[in-house]
Amino acid sequence: MNFENTEKGKKYLERVMKFMELNIYPLESEVIHFHEKNPRKIHPVIKELKGKAKSQGLWNLFLPLSFGDYSPGLTNVEYAVLAEQMGKVSWASSVFNCNAPDTGNMEVLAKYGSVEQKNTYLTPLMDGKIRSAFLMTEPDVASSDARNIQTSIIKDGNEYVINGRKWWSTNVRHPNCSFYIVMGKTDPEAESYGQQSMIIVPVDTPGANIIRDLPVLNHYDHPGCHCEVELSNVRVPEENIILGEGRGFEIAQGRLGPGRIHHTMRSIGVAQRAFDYLCKRANERTAFNRRFSEMGMIRNKVAHIFCEIQKCRQLTLLAADKIDRVGVKEAKDLIAAIKLSVIPSVANIVDDVMQVFGGMGVSNDVPLAEMYTHIRALRLADGPDDVHAYQLGRNLLRKAKEHPEYDVQYFN
Ligand SMILES: Cc1cc2nc3c(=O)[nH]c(=O)nc-3n(C[C@H](O)[C@H](O)[C@H](O)COP(=O)(O)OP(=O)(O)OC[C@H]3O[C@@H](n4cnc5c(N)ncnc54)[C@H](O)[C@@H]3O)c2cc1C
Repeated sequence: MNFENTEKGKKYLERVMKFMELNIYPLESEVIHFHEKNPRKIHPVIKELKGKAKSQGLWNLFLPLSFGDYSPGLTNVEYAVLAEQMGKVSWASSVFNCNAPDTGNMEVLAKYGSVEQKNTYLTPLMDGKIRSAFLMTEPDVASSDARNIQTSIIKDGNEYVINGRKWWSTNVRHPNCSFYIVMGKTDPEAESYGQQSMIIVPVDTPGANIIRDLPVLNHYDHPGCHCEVELSNVRVPEENIILGEGRGFEIAQGRLGPGRIHHTMRSIGVAQRAFDYLCKRANERTAFNRRFSEMGMIRNKVAHIFCEIQKCRQLTLLAADKIDRVGVKEAKDLIAAIKLSVIPSVANIVDDVMQVFGGMGVSNDVPLAEMYTHIRALRLADGPDDVHAYQLGRNLLRKAKEHPEYDVQYFN
């Protein structure tokens, strides 16, 4: 495996880093504080920066080669290092139109949407004119396994009627959020993987009501937020079903394709940035006339965190490379492995760095607390660790049983 970046990848990386340096870092805290104080507004600079990124061709970088004209043609390995840079500031990926959950929804519509759905929803989403949300998780059922989802989507004439309650729906409060992709059951009697479907619901459809905003570790992710949404006799035209009834799982597999590892890619940027803060602190801070950088405990921490980041980065690139070479399905064990191991490692790294910063570490004077909140939530939002561990363990043991002649590693 050779992860040396291509010439094309290097040029994109240089441009993204320069863009971050000139446009994002200087405004990082101003934008965050603006959204805290003005939860229903978008900082005016975001629109300006999106225009700038788009005009520089730093736009929709995540879409893989297989998406043809829609894609800038980067491999997942090339994109991984760009996502790492974007991940360093919480709101940066949205400036490049590379933010969740819009990325997943774009992948769904590009891959499975009808011509009309593409024209109405995908094109403006790709243009960055609108935003979207993905409504799968429900308060009343264990939603890590989508087979448990209970929302009903029932055909009535040439419409579908939707009833259910969703929560943790990210982006719903965004002023430009214009549609939801909702997952629910069209046929409770079908075999378990054929019961669910996905359907498009425009936000202003009667009966689709936002009930409340949910805080993450006491912090509201303004302006998009994560919300509880009630769907009460919501009626949409039959054309809004994506791909067809009972195809929800098929789409979910596609939706969670390459996009499945974007959070992990970005989290490497969080870890690297925390590490940079750690080194700066160690070289500047003193106690009893000794620099922190001279203390064994700090040197030990720096060395271990460096190793941990390298491991996380290499494992993420390994998964990205496997997706590029043989596809998402074949890479599923590595995908589970990085979600299971990288996100918790990054959470530990940020926690360790906060400790070295003392009280300042948990304040807003450095972005560490914000990073920690975000990463800790990802241990659930990107699929719970335990579920990835369960599935990976099951798959590896099954393979070992079916092919006792091979080392399990052979398959990964
Ligand atoms: C910040 C944030 C943003 C989110 N954004 C979205 C969004 O935009 N759209 C959306 O639909 N959802 C979103 N989610 C929801 C997220 O996807 C779910 O919280 C997650 O899938 C877990 O589902 P659950 O909360 O129902 O937990 P449960 O399914 O009840 O799981 C809780 C725990 O039970 C155990 N468990 C459950 N099932 C298994 C299993 N099969 N094997 C082993 N252990 C298991 C695990 O310990 C797991 O951590 C978001 C969540 C957060 C925190």
